[in-house]
Amino acid sequence: MLAEDKVTATTCPFCGVGCRLNLHTQGNQILSATTPYDHVVSRGNLCIKGRFGWDFIYHPDRVLKPLIRKDIDVGAPLRGRPLRERPRTQAARDDWREATWDEALELVTDRFAATVKQHGPDATAVFCCAKATNEDNYALQKMFRAVIGTNNIDHCTRLCHAGSVVALQLALGSSAMSNTASEIYQNDVAIITGSNTAETHPIIALQMKDAAMHHGTQIIVADPRRVEMVNFAALWLCQKPGTDVPLFSAMAHVILAENLYNKPFVAERTENFDAFAKSMQDFTPEFAERISGVPRDDIVRAARMYATAKRGAIYWALGIPEHTHGTENAMALIHLALLTGHIGKEGTGLNPLRGQNNVQGASDAGAMPWDYPGYQKADDPATVEKFRAVWHHAPPPQRGLSTTEIAEAWQTGAVKSMYVMGENPLMSEPNLRHAHHAIENLEFLVCQDLFINETGRYADVILPGASWAEKDGTFTNTDRRVQRVRKVFEPFGDARADWQIISEVAKRLERKLERTQTAFWDYKHPSEILEEMGRLVPSYAGITYDRLEGDGLQWPVPTRDHPGTPFLFEKTFPRGRGKFFSLVYEVSKEQPDDAYPFILTTGRVLYHWHGGTLTRHSQLDFAMPEPLVEINPADAPRVPCKDGDAVRVSSRRGSIVLRAKVTEKAARGVVFIPFHFAEAAANVLTIDALDPQAKIPEYKICAVKIEPATAAELEQTLQAT
Ligand code: SF4
Repeated sequence: MLAEDKVTATTCPFCGVGCRLNLHTQGNQILSATTPYDHVVSRGNLCIKGRFGWDFIYHPDRVLKPLIRKDIDVGAPLRGRPLRERPRTQAARDDWREATWDEALELVTDRFAATVKQHGPDATAVFCCAKATNEDNYALQKMFRAVIGTNNIDHCTRLCHAGSVVALQLALGSSAMSNTASEIYQNDVAIITGSNTAETHPIIALQMKDAAMHHGTQIIVADPRRVEMVNFAALWLCQKPGTDVPLFSAMAHVILAENLYNKPFVAERTENFDAFAKSMQDFTPEFAERISGVPRDDIVRAARMYATAKRGAIYWALGIPEHTHGTENAMALIHLALLTGHIGKEGTGLNPLRGQNNVQGASDAGAMPWDYPGYQKADDPATVEKFRAVWHHAPPPQRGLSTTEIAEAWQTGAVKSMYVMGENPLMSEPNLRHAHHAIENLEFLVCQDLFINETGRYADVILPGASWAEKDGTFTNTDRRVQRVRKVFEPFGDARADWQIISEVAKRLERKLERTQTAFWDYKHPSEILEEMGRLVPSYAGITYDRLEGDGLQWPVPTRDHPGTPFLFEKTFPRGRGKFFSLVYEVSKEQPDDAYPFILTTGRVLYHWHGGTLTRHSQLDFAMPEPLVEINPADAPRVPCKDGDAVRVSSRRGSIVLRAKVTEKAARGVVFIPFHFAEAAANVLTIDALDPQAKIPEYKICAVKIEPATAAELEQTLQAT
C-alpha cells in the first residue's frame, strides 16, 4: 500500500456546493480525498463524486498532446485554399495525429486571424467553461473581447439558470444567491422547488435534512417528481410540469387576500406593487388547482406557512428556469420574497442553486455575451472606456450571441471559427440532431479539453488542458464563496493550464492581427490574473490569493480589509427598489397529445455530472453505467413494459433506446431521463424552443411516446459508448 507524502487542500471540481477536498497523494497518485470537519461548506462530508470521482485524471483516453486532424492540409489557408477538401465529419481517435504545441497554436491562430480579416470579429465565437477556474475564464473572454473584438462569448449558464439570472437582474439588479447555503439552519420555513437537491447538491441537501429533522425547519417541496427531499418535507406540492407561474402566483394571491404581506417592506423597498397585485387577482387557488393539479388547500397552507415564517427562504434549481417561460417562473418566486420581506436578512433569501463548480465564477468573470466581467454592461460607454484603459483595446459595445444563438449561427454560416474550452455543446444543446448538422458547417473548430468528447470529435485541433489537480486558480461556489484550487502535481504529458494556453494564443493572435497596442499576457501565476480582474470588478477588488487561505471569501469584497458578505440586500437592492412584475399564465410550447402522450423532463443523477465528460471516465461509471427512463407504475402498462425492459422513447425530433425504471419517483404521465449518457442522449428528444428573454431552451417539457424495444436494440445502444 502506498504511503501518502503530501496533503493538498483544494476545491471539489464537480458541483456548485464547493466542498473542500484534501487530496492525499504520493507522487502523482491521488490516494484519497477527505474534507475537514471545520470547513464552512462541507463540514466533514463529501458526496460520492467528491470522495471518489477524481480518478478521471488518470483515464487512458486523456489527451496529453496537441492533436491535429489528419485530413487537414495545414498550409492550405496560407495558399488561399480551404482547410480541408471534404466536409467536417465526426472523427475517431486514429483520425488525429500528435503535433507540437507550436504547430497547433500556429494553426489555431492562423485560422482565427484569417476569419477576423476576411469576415470580421463576429464571425468567431467562444464557449467558456463553468468547470474551469475564474482565471481561465477571465483570460478567455479577455482574448475574445480585447484581441479579436467580439462579444460572441457564452457558457453553459445559458442552458441552466439563464431565466433565473434575467428575472433576478430585472427585479433586484443582482442574480447571485442572496444568502449562504448553511443559513438553512436559521430558516423556519424553506421552499425547495425545481431542485433534486439530494442528488445535484448533496452536501447542501444533507444540511437541509439535518435542519428539518433536528432544528425545526419546515420544508415545502414543490416538484413534479417525488424527489428525495419530499421525505423530509412538511408539505409536498406536486405540480404538473410547466405550471409554476399559476402555483406560486396563487400563493401570492392568498398572501395578498389574507393580508399576510409585509406592508412596511413593500412600501419602503419595492415598486410596481399595484400593477402586480392586480395581475394576481385571477390566480385564485381554485384556478391554480385546475391548472397545476395541486389541491387548493395545500396552496393556501403553503402560502400561510411561508408568509407567517419568521425567516423564510426559497431554494431552486433548473426545474424553474429551463422553460420557455423560465424568466416568469423565477419572477413568481421573487414576488413571494418581496411580498413577505424574506430577503435582506440572515436566514432568508432567494437562492438559485448553481449547478457546476464554477458557473457562478465564469459568469462573474465575464463569460457572457452582454456583460463584461462583474456584470458591467457592454453597451455602457463608461464601462467600455474602463476596460480599454486596462486592456489597451476597446472591447465591443454591442451585445454578442448567446450559446443557443451561436449554435444557430453555425447553421447559417454567420459564425465560421469556433473555440470551445471544456464544454460539450453536442451533449448539452437541445434538439441534438439539428446541432450536429449545424456544427458541420463550421470552417474551423478548436476544442481545449481533457478528453475528445462528442463536440471534440468534430474538432480540427484539440489542445490538451490540465485538470483541476494540475493547476492553481480559484472557483466561486453557489453562494458566492471564492475558494482556492491548488496545483497538486505538474500537468500530465504535454497538457498545460488553460490560462497559459490562452495567453499564448492571445499573444500570437495580436501579432497576426497586427495590433499596435497589446494587452498584458505575460502572467507568471494565475494570482496576477485575479488581481487584474479585481481592478475591473468592484466585488472582487479585495480578493487576493493570500486572503483565500482559509475558508475563502464571499463577494462582494470591495476592499483588502473587507471580510466578505454572507448575505445581500440588507439595506437596498442594486437596482434601488425591488420590482414586482405583472404575470400571466402561458402554457408550455409542446403539450402531450394522442401521438406523443407523455411529458419528458430531463435532469441529473447523483453519480454523474453534466455531459459525462469527467464522470463517465471515472470509477463512478461503474455505479451507474447506463441510461434509464423513469416511468410511473401506473404508466408502465400503457407502454407496455416492466422494470428493466428495453424501451424506445421518441419525440418529434428523434428516438433513443434505453432501459425502463418503473418507479413512484416519476409522476403519472411524466417520464424522466438523465442527460449524462451520449449513447442515449436525452437532448436528441428535447425541443429547441427558447425563453424569449433569457434564451434558455425548454429542457423540462416536451412530448414523447414510449414503445417496447428489443434486448438487441438496447445492446446496440450500450455498445455505442
Ligand atoms: Fe463535490 Fe458537490 Fe459532492 Fe461537494 S456536494 S463533494 S462539491 S460534488
